Amino acid sequence: MGTPVLEAHDIHKTYGHGAGAFNALKGVSLAVHEGESVAIVGKSGSGKSTLMHILALLDAPDAGSLAVKGSDPARLKGRDINRLRNEDFGFVFQQFFLVPNATVLDNVVMPLKIAGVGSAERTRRGMEALRALELEDKARNKATDLSGGQKQRVVIARALVNNPRVLFADEPTGNLDSATGEVVEDILFQLNREQGITLIIVTHDHELASRCDRQLHLRDGLEVAA
Ligand code: ADP
Ligand code: MG
Repeated sequence: MGTPVLEAHDIHKTYGHGAGAFNALKGVSLAVHEGESVAIVGKSGSGKSTLMHILALLDAPDAGSLAVKGSDPARLKGRDINRLRNEDFGFVFQQFFLVPNATVLDNVVMPLKIAGVGSAERTRRGMEALRALELEDKARNKATDLSGGQKQRVVIARALVNNPRVLFADEPTGNLDSATGEVVEDILFQLNREQGITLIIVTHDHELASRCDRQLHLRDGLEVAA
């Protein structure tokens, strides 16, 4: 299967200090190969989001090692980590994190702006991503003027605008009704099948988890059998 795109070995993460310290991850290991879909499942508080943030280089572990495309981010400079994340990863969160008063297009091209891509190229790629999500006609609308399902499609368009190899989704359907959630799920799995984008999905929805190639079950910061 070649080198995994992402590898985590014996990851530990503690929040807080002293008597208030909380061990959110107590030694979790995981290898994800290109093109796989992996669900991280478990009850609320089991450490799913913490693990995802660490895998996505949004947070650093206290102990354990990571390899992203074979290199250890702990040895990279902050700027190189940001570049790696921005070039290879896309993010879809339950809470959308859209800028409410900006247009749909401005929201979608945000990662390109951060990457320093010029205005014309941003618009071209932003419109292409919106077209893929059937939201072209909403480009000039304010992000607030959309339904929940449309907002989540804008979030997916934003996640795709950099042509990421790995898409991280944390409870991507958590704020959607079941019919809309299913549309969003279908889009994610279509991207996985047709473009080979690796999916790492945090969810407590067993149906969504079962659509993934495999599941990592967490309980109290440790992997457990299903
Ligand atoms: P999940 O996504 O499975 O619900 P999280 O990874 O968000 O779980 O959180 C795991 C545990 O760590 C929870 O008990 C949570 O309260 C705690 N936790 C998460 N983030 C913080 C933080 N920034 N400070 C303190 N505790 C935290
Ligand atoms: Mg969570």
